[in-house]
Amino acid sequence: MPIYTYEHKEENPACGKSPVFEWEQVARDLPLTVCPFCGTPVERVLSPSHIKKRHFNCELRDKGFTKLVRVDEGIFENVTRRPGESKYMDRRKPETFPILEKTIKD
Ligand SMILES: [Zn+2]
Repeated sequence: MPIYTYEHKEENPACGKSPVFEWEQVARDLPLTVCPFCGTPVERVLSPSHIKKRHFNCELRDKGFTKLVRVDEGIFENVTRRPGESKYMDRRKPETFPILEKTIKD
């Protein structure tokens, strides 16, 4: 039976499964859309490099870093986005800037 890799769309500490988990399924089964353990949305992961990258960013975030990736002139994607922060930072819009007070606790 094929084994697929799924990833929780939202981090869910309440779920006993890790954020990324493998799920064995019968080929005729439809791909999972929700986690069989906690019922929150999951998506199938096709590229392992994508996971690594995403996980690296999570690690950075957990260590207190903020990482911005330039997507356009003056527009940056906040790949270490925390709750309450916007996905894209616009250099001209201070309200989209990462919330540093949340990061700098010490
Ligand atoms: Zn789950």
